[in-house]
Amino acid sequence: MNSQTLVEVRNLKKYFPVRSGILQRAKHWIKAVDNVTFSIKEGETLGLVGESGCGKSTTGRAILRLLPVTGGEVIFQGKDLLTLKGESLRKARKEFQMIFQDPYASLDPRMTVAQIVGEPLKAHEPELSAADRDARIIETMEAVGLNASHLRRFPFEFSGGQRQRIGIARTLILKPSLIVADEPVSALDVSVQAQVINLLIQMRERFRLTYLFISHDLSVVKHICDRVAVMYLGRIVEIGEKREFFKTPLHPYTHALLASVPEPDPFRKKERNILPGDIPTPLNPPPGCHFHPRCSKAMEVCRKDIPVLRDHGNSHYVACHLP
Ligand code: SF4
Repeated sequence: MNSQTLVEVRNLKKYFPVRSGILQRAKHWIKAVDNVTFSIKEGETLGLVGESGCGKSTTGRAILRLLPVTGGEVIFQGKDLLTLKGESLRKARKEFQMIFQDPYASLDPRMTVAQIVGEPLKAHEPELSAADRDARIIETMEAVGLNASHLRRFPFEFSGGQRQRIGIARTLILKPSLIVADEPVSALDVSVQAQVINLLIQMRERFRLTYLFISHDLSVVKHICDRVAVMYLGRIVEIGEKREFFKTPLHPYTHALLASVPEPDPFRKKERNILPGDIPTPLNPPPGCHFHPRCSKAMEVCRKDIPVLRDHGNSHYVACHLP
């Protein structure tokens, strides 16, 4: 694997205003993404995991500028994507694409498959002739396991797995560098999830792709990712190489997440570590370590001081006051 950094996210912040009063002034802020820092190497797949509402999808959207951000930097090829405008932003957008969670909602039902897959080419490569565009569409469709006979059909004529293949083809047609895959299989039947994951792995090798893979499903993440980052209430609490992460998780929240993954072998018993309580509201998160009300190891310092990511060796970083 090439060890060059493709994208570096530094102190990314996305705060949503909570408005009230006649003037609708922002009285409070929801810190959906709060000082998130990580990098992804070329050809790598970084998994971003955590419970629903932890800020992982907002992070993906903020990186792609699908949302205005509050602060931070996203460095790609020496430039901060968050400051680009006009033509330079349009060019950068070609390099960064997204696969959405819901293949039912993300495809326009009035467009044919050829129109859906070819649409990004019209926007980003308008100089292509119709014949060249059709050739690119067919080539990309075949790469994802569909064929030319599907081109004139509409999304409703396809199964969930095939629709997600159409979504992947639309993403690949611009030959991007980074793909943010936001829960790409969670809306699919279990029987087709593995096929789509294997397709994403094949596409990564064939087109030298880099993924930010957002998921709440740790067994899927274990299969496809090289490194894993865990988010809790807008912050990254642990990040490390996959092998190290699954073998020696260090953050108490990661322990709880791993303990909640169902054990496929009914004869193997697993340590029970069920988290007490629900994830607190991001409108009023607990001070210090956000996880302290649910943490069995919480100390006095945890209620006051925000733990920062500390290096535990082997590229394993953990934000916890435990030694
Ligand atoms: Fe638990 Fe304290 Fe570590 Fe937070 S900092 S995870 S409360 S031990």
